[in-house]
Amino acid sequence: MSPHRDPIEIDENAPATVIPGRLLNELFTHALETRPEECCGLVTGTDADPYRRAHRCRNTMTQQNQNDPKNHPRDGTEAYYMSEVDYLRAQKDAESHGEQVTAVYHSHVAAGVYLSEMDQDFANHPLFPFPEAAQIVLAVGAQKVDRVLSAGIFERDASGTLRGRRLEAGE
Ligand SMILES: [Zn+2]
Repeated sequence: MSPHRDPIEIDENAPATVIPGRLLNELFTHALETRPEECCGLVTGTDADPYRRAHRCRNTMTQQNQNDPKNHPRDGTEAYYMSEVDYLRAQKDAESHGEQVTAVYHSHVAAGVYLSEMDQDFANHPLFPFPEAAQIVLAVGAQKVDRVLSAGIFERDASGTLRGRRLEAGE
């Protein structure tokens, strides 16, 4: 067992990270469509244009929970487990376009933008396939009528610590 860690919150005083509005819309659409479960996927791009394309991946946590509730006590409404088949396919597609994986995204349903203890475990796991990638978290309400949408991005600083900033739509 790893020691308990607090969630990493957004630094509201830091300038927001701006990504293309078209891309942020795609991520939010995915998050809204998969409610009440969390969505997940990859963002790929180049050095000059790091946040270019979104690749949806299936969240298989509900399946993991049904098969092995002891090791996976939560289902897809509270956690995500990115389908390996899906992310390997997305990674291959990115490479064939001269891109790399620049961010992993997932949503929180009826919860805020932060990196939970589980999210940190996932990002810091020695087998995590994209250790350099940023983590994007999308917060959406639980109800169809909810329109409160916010997003954050967690990137590693020079010391490797994950730091959160608001994520906003740009050109
Ligand atoms: Zn999370």
